[in-house]
Amino acid sequence: MTEEDDIIIADLHCHSTMSDGVLPPQEVAKRAHANGVTLWALTDHDILDGVPAARAQAKELGMEFVAGVEVSVTWSGHTVHIVGLNVDDTNTSLVDGLRRVRGGRTERAREMGRRLDQMGVKDSYEGALSYVSNPALISRTHFARYLVDQGYSPSLQAVFSKYLGDGCPAHVPMQWASLEQAVTWIRGAGGRAVIAHPGRYNYSPAQFDALFETFRELGGEGIEVMTGSHTPEQYREYAEVARRYGFLASCGSDFHSPREARIDLGHLPPLPEDLTPVWHDWQ
Ligand code: AMP
Ligand code: MN
Ligand code: MN
Ligand code: MN
Repeated sequence: MTEEDDIIIADLHCHSTMSDGVLPPQEVAKRAHANGVTLWALTDHDILDGVPAARAQAKELGMEFVAGVEVSVTWSGHTVHIVGLNVDDTNTSLVDGLRRVRGGRTERAREMGRRLDQMGVKDSYEGALSYVSNPALISRTHFARYLVDQGYSPSLQAVFSKYLGDGCPAHVPMQWASLEQAVTWIRGAGGRAVIAHPGRYNYSPAQFDALFETFRELGGEGIEVMTGSHTPEQYREYAEVARRYGFLASCGSDFHSPREARIDLGHLPPLPEDLTPVWHDWQ
């Protein structure tokens, strides 16, 4: 083996049509591989059903693969995303837990549709549904794509700022999984729990400290340092958090769509060398 063969290009956070991505699992695998990814995880929101197809395609391409999921969690009144990596995707507690977590999505989407109607956006529930590939998983992203394509907003970000983000008129709060449930399900399925895109949460410094401490006490092990959601300044900030709390470091583009990607699959800079990667002891 040459030295070059040893370099791991990891992308451990992305989405397919099984949740709010626009490419089927096989196509996400091909894009990751074409972009140079050597270690890949598919991490759809609250569902593992894309994993078998993703695994099979990764195997065909000779790309290392671990099963993953991004679990929606409510902690201290806000949504936090916890990525589970290298899980057994057939684990009953995890599979059943995820089914319960996503269970309220359709009713929530109908309510979002009613609220958007009051804001002058017509037929958004039906519109969002036309963007949904997996009926078990309708998300705000599907609404946002509909609103942009109908000309209500110039960008997905603008939809979230005006209509669907936390505190906006069409935002329907959800009670997702608890932090303890998410970490317990992931660990019970043999996986590793990782805090996704910490730079996106609107917590105070004291709340962040409580989140990190609680997560660690519950058995959480990792944090995303490199993610498509972070600025270079935030790469440094969360590398420092990983050092301070003793977290393993993860790296994932959070790719959803070729048109929407700020950072494409496999295009993040490498982790700082002194951090221990979340994959350090994977075979
Ligand atoms: P949901 O799980 O239905 O609450 O939808 C959350 C999803 O919305 C996230 O996984 C992102 O894909 C998307 N999202 C959240 N905030 C934004 C934003 N500001 N801009 C674009 N997409 C966003
Ligand atoms: Mn998403
Ligand atoms: Mn997320
Ligand atoms: Mn994500």
